[in-house]
Amino acid sequence: MHAATKCLAAAVAAALCSSVYAASGTFEGTAMGKNDQIKVSVELKEDRIVSVKVGENYETPSISRRVFKVVPELIVDNQTVNVDSISGATFTSFGVLGAVRDALKKSGTDISKFTKGPRVSEKITIDPTPKADVVIIGGGGAGLSAAVTAARKGASVLILEKSSFVGGNTMAAGGGFNAAVPETVAKHDMSKGQADLIEAQLAAKPLNEKQAELIAQLAEDWKAYKARGEKHADGKPVLFDSPAWHALQTWAAGDNKADLNLVDKLSHLAPESVKILTDMGLVWNDKTSQYVGALWPRSHDAANYKSGEGFIQTFLQTIAKEKLPVKISYYTRADNLVMKDGRVVGVEAKGPKGEKMFASANKGVILATGGFSANIEMRMKYDTKWGNLDSSIPTTNLSGITGDGIVMAEKLGANLVGMEYIQLLPICDPETGSVQTTVSIGTPLYVNMEGKRFVNELERRDVISKAILEQPGKKFWKVINAKNARIDKNGVNSYGLKVETLIKQGKVVKADTVEELAQKMGVPADNLVKTVKAWNEFCRKQVDEEFGRPSCLDNVTLFEGPYYADIHSPAVHHTMGGVQIDTSTHVIDKNGKPIPGLYAAGEVTGGIHGTNRVGANAIPDALSFGRVAGETVVNENK
Ligand code: ADP
Repeated sequence: MHAATKCLAAAVAAALCSSVYAASGTFEGTAMGKNDQIKVSVELKEDRIVSVKVGENYETPSISRRVFKVVPELIVDNQTVNVDSISGATFTSFGVLGAVRDALKKSGTDISKFTKGPRVSEKITIDPTPKADVVIIGGGGAGLSAAVTAARKGASVLILEKSSFVGGNTMAAGGGFNAAVPETVAKHDMSKGQADLIEAQLAAKPLNEKQAELIAQLAEDWKAYKARGEKHADGKPVLFDSPAWHALQTWAAGDNKADLNLVDKLSHLAPESVKILTDMGLVWNDKTSQYVGALWPRSHDAANYKSGEGFIQTFLQTIAKEKLPVKISYYTRADNLVMKDGRVVGVEAKGPKGEKMFASANKGVILATGGFSANIEMRMKYDTKWGNLDSSIPTTNLSGITGDGIVMAEKLGANLVGMEYIQLLPICDPETGSVQTTVSIGTPLYVNMEGKRFVNELERRDVISKAILEQPGKKFWKVINAKNARIDKNGVNSYGLKVETLIKQGKVVKADTVEELAQKMGVPADNLVKTVKAWNEFCRKQVDEEFGRPSCLDNVTLFEGPYYADIHSPAVHHTMGGVQIDTSTHVIDKNGKPIPGLYAAGEVTGGIHGTNRVGANAIPDALSFGRVAGETVVNENK
């Protein structure tokens, strides 16, 4: 007879016949991971762990992929749950280990058998002297875009990535991608408020030749749009857009401090990047939205992935499908750029245990390390706007986004620009700074703790953040209805989180009526009722008498319940400053000359966004200039 069948219930059996009992069978276990409960099933045969399979979970796929492979392997190979967590994914690792313990407990086996012995960890070997045509530091959006581009042009590529996964903030962020693609943007109506913004720009006196050129281009685009006179079936005009308009809005939103040549290039590259990503397999949502601070409803996002994950997976799949010569060295932190005969020829880096590496680059090195929002010392050193960006202000960023590329480039004499401009994102979780605790998409109604509107929600991010910091409790609620909420058929939000859990945690509330919603939000019901009524009136008329919001898109109306609200506060999100580049991504030194062999793209660069980055401009920046860097390094080093 099977050992386990001798006992009626495994757990009872363990107590009654622990000396003879050897568990066999498959047992389910659950424990809390980073985002939610993780379920595992553990197969036991005569008290040996035969397999561990991770089941239902809401962890971020790019971050958890390695955990879900490596941790079960280590458990099975070593017959222990004394396993080290995977760096950068500690909570997810603890979740898997906790769930396995839970399953073992339920099996009735003697769990101490699996907790003896030394701790085991993943074996990582680092090549001390790798060589490649192109060495890229950082495997986020910019790094992967550069890698795919350079490899498609025949170059061998090595990515040095300090964490256990690629994706960086590009993957963790909302995933909005601004691009002036007239066909998609035209699915929206054009309001009078939006037309007024264009007319105002056309009437403005240009501040320099480049702006004059862009305004002239906008005038042409606007004239052609009017001549076409395209209308929707209900007679409303379709929404206008053009790269010149995108560039002009971006420059103005950064207080005209950005390099307008870079801004112009960004706005022209973005629609091309949309097409390239589509060809690689990314599926976009049918209709664009207007991410917070995006200034125009040109924010595209992926339909086949959650948040920014789609960009990263699309690149990784392209590398695999096209068998591109791209290698990734994980757990490899770059420390130093090495110059020889006036040219950058390689990178000094360290492996997880401090193992030394020198990666040599035949053609050049691309810096793609992101910004410095997770480096409190740097943000305190450079910030001049917010007064105090110490650890009391959370960040939306991954912990590895610490400005390393900026420090490395500065040592070589790179010019740094706009370092004092640091962005607070208004719509973060007040406790953790996460951007993920929401059910809305686009920019809906914002109300303060008095149940009242307090700002034009379509304003710049710095304006909104400042307004929030002046409200009671320095927090606010976003209000949306069920029809417009972005919750999929499995009850999961656009970041992959279970809405039911967010409700249990009090981060999201749901109610059938506005009065009930107010009560759950802890705001005066009569105020919220009045606010929602006025909001709907504005949405019907498209005229916001109170705050001058230029438009109400149909994805933010509140015409009927049920309703949702989620609570937010600003957190440090983006650092606009960084190394100066030219439009071909050469890193520029303090004398205005390119540093030979050194290129940079993404948030590590400065000068593209001025004082304030437009919402959903970061990913087009990283991916488009990443592409330019990949092209330039190969083209000029044949
Ligand atoms: P961007 O949007 O500019 O591409 P991301 O934040 O998406 O920036 O990605 C930056 C990537 O660079 C992250 O994956 C981060 O872990 C990596 N990184 C940062 N510093 C280093 C370093 N010193 N060595 C290797 N990788 C790094």
